[in-house]
Amino acid sequence: MKYISTRGNYSPVSASEAIKLGMVPEGGLFVPEKVPELSLEKILSKKDNSYQEIASWILEYFLSDFDKGEIKNAVNKAYNNENFLSELITPLVSFDENTYIMELWHGPTAAFKDLALQLMPYLLNKAVKKSGSNKEIVILVATSGDTGKAALEGFKDVEGVKIIVLYPENGVSKIQKDQMITTGGSNTEVIAVKGNFDDCQNAVKKIFGDKNFNKKIKNNGFQFSSANSINWGRLVPQIVYYFAAYFYLIKKEVIKSGEKINITVPTGNFGNILAAYYAYRMGLPVNKFICASNENKILTDFIRSGKYDIKRKFKKTISPSMDILISSNLERFLFEITNHDSERINHWYKQLNENGEFEIDEENVNKINELFVGKYATEGETKETIKQVYNNYDYLIDPHTGVALSCLGKYRNNKDKLKTNVVDSTANPYKFSKAVLESIKGELKEKDDYKIINKLKELTDTPMHRALAELENESIKHYRKTSKDKVKEEISDILFK
Ligand SMILES: *Cc1c(COP(=O)(O)O)cnc(C)c1O
Repeated sequence: MKYISTRGNYSPVSASEAIKLGMVPEGGLFVPEKVPELSLEKILSKKDNSYQEIASWILEYFLSDFDKGEIKNAVNKAYNNENFLSELITPLVSFDENTYIMELWHGPTAAFKDLALQLMPYLLNKAVKKSGSNKEIVILVATSGDTGKAALEGFKDVEGVKIIVLYPENGVSKIQKDQMITTGGSNTEVIAVKGNFDDCQNAVKKIFGDKNFNKKIKNNGFQFSSANSINWGRLVPQIVYYFAAYFYLIKKEVIKSGEKINITVPTGNFGNILAAYYAYRMGLPVNKFICASNENKILTDFIRSGKYDIKRKFKKTISPSMDILISSNLERFLFEITNHDSERINHWYKQLNENGEFEIDEENVNKINELFVGKYATEGETKETIKQVYNNYDYLIDPHTGVALSCLGKYRNNKDKLKTNVVDSTANPYKFSKAVLESIKGELKEKDDYKIINKLKELTDTPMHRALAELENESIKHYRKTSKDKVKEEISDILFK
């Protein structure tokens, strides 16, 4: 399978090239030239397979220049019961007869990004080898929280790769910071940058575009690459769990073969919900996708009106991984919805660049609304949902999952009451202990994050995720700190010494 650019500005490339490049060098994102369409019979023939077998099966379609052995090897290294403490990898729990929560947080860092970032390093490593390059890959990541730790854990001790994460010194939570600076491994580096997230992101972009520096990097045997969610290598692993969930529901006799389900996804960069859409395009029986947003509800407004307008105030919420105004992967979705009309994509994104907004035509708005529902939850509604779920079902959810369930509730008030729903749970509740505990108990005086985690544990007596249980006692391994103008010097110090 070849990959083409959403902007029609690049010759088709292989999967490994798309993963190595990350994004189209001229601008635009790589998408599969043609999504494989499978018959229901063919899909159902996999229903008794393990998660690892389902993963290999899906990946083989999309990564056609990888051989089966390479894929199987990568899958087994990523999805085993050391990395994911659940036999099913992404288990489903239910607390009413047609709501199934898919727990996507059993990986090493307690966020759903592990599902992609545990696998992707192996794919990247193979992709580089296929291209005949003998350079060591240097992954540069700017993070505002979850991605940094998930990438560090994924790339830790992977042969032929070095990973450098930049985070804003005062822009991440104490837990997130501790998660990053306690990471072991011989190839991991973490740099605190005096500045905000944009400063980190700009520093990375500047370095990617610095021709002289790149030459120096190459002469020293290195090559830069990226691990953020515009890389196809991060999307394709996420298609897998939607099939796994569907098979689980059939085996539990919750649904009949071929019956359609609803899928609710708490959405930020539109990656996770786009993976679900690709599963649907492959033949997964889906009735509706509920795209759940927090108060940064740019996607809700877009789905309803067809107008994408970033000229609005950015809000900091208790579901920070969804605090996003530019949902990068929406571009891929629009490219699919318009049957690969790259001219229109160029036009819309030019408008976005110049005017901070674009508006799509009514025909396409209608097309999107046949399949997608856009809902959002306020901070109050999210907290209330966390509290209700805990009080009624003795089950803790994190704020991102709270947004998703609140949005599903709003949709279900008037539609599809009897449909079976799969709801993505994207983070373990202990990762956001403060917001969760405050939702249940009201405002807290306690400021110490570790004391709050323990309070939540004491109050609810629910199992704590291992990523957080040990964190307080882990030793700090990374002390690098620099100003936003000295990032290049810091990276030189890492690579050339
Ligand atoms: C990244 C993230 C999201 C958003 O996922 P997208 O693929 O960017 O839409 C939601 N919840 C959590 C906990 C995340 O870390």
